Amino acid sequence: MRKRWISLLVTGLLVGGAVAPASPALAAPTFKVPFPCGQSWSGQTRSDHSPAYAIDFNRTDDQGDPVVASAPGTVDRVTDLGGTSYGKYVRIDHGGGYTTYYAHLSGFNVSVGQTVGYGKVIGWVGSTGGSTGPHLHYEQRLNGNDIQARFNGTLALYWGTKTYTSGNGCSSGSGNGTVDTSGTPLTVRSGPGTGYASVGTVADGTRVTISCQTSGTTVTGTYGTSSIWDRIGSGRYIADAYVYTGYDGYIPNVPRC
Ligand SMILES: [Zn+2]
Repeated sequence: MRKRWISLLVTGLLVGGAVAPASPALAAPTFKVPFPCGQSWSGQTRSDHSPAYAIDFNRTDDQGDPVVASAPGTVDRVTDLGGTSYGKYVRIDHGGGYTTYYAHLSGFNVSVGQTVGYGKVIGWVGSTGGSTGPHLHYEQRLNGNDIQARFNGTLALYWGTKTYTSGNGCSSGSGNGTVDTSGTPLTVRSGPGTGYASVGTVADGTRVTISCQTSGTTVTGTYGTSSIWDRIGSGRYIADAYVYTGYDGYIPNVPRC
């Protein structure tokens, strides 16, 4: 394995040397959905929005829900425009000319000059300014101009409404669990469901490392009925219903696959 690793490293250096520009432009930050890890929000874009590429986010009973920083940066505006426009809004400067805006907030949780990271709560969803109901008005800008938003590098839907699930502030760490089948080996599948191919088994009592969790086929096992599947390796999933993790449902801070 050591030999393979050295070979990859050398290749990487050669490629890097060949394509690196003399004065590389600052890469765009990796923006994430501006809500806590694991939450799903409906994001709407529409051509008559101002500015056009802004996204309005909603979910059920969203008044007062926490809004988090899309990417690391420095808060450079915490402003209340009163009953007009953005109302209470926060702007974060991410460097390289990139900023993000979070508007119509009901309250602030940061101050100007504060450094924020992924997942930092900056304020709460509200309906301040020229808003007719609770939602988060969100923008990504480059050099002051609004740009089509990207999350994890993937372009948002223009135009229309789409559900975005947050991977913001999720621990990059993993979770642990212990397989408990009362004796029988547990089938490992190539994907999160019983319809995926069997790619092996894990013995009862095996301690597993869970890199992420996702929903799939509903399974009834030792710990009840659950549609959660645990990824325990590349292309290797087991039903969470047979895994003792210490938690009902998803393990806090373990990311969604
Ligand atoms: Zn809006």
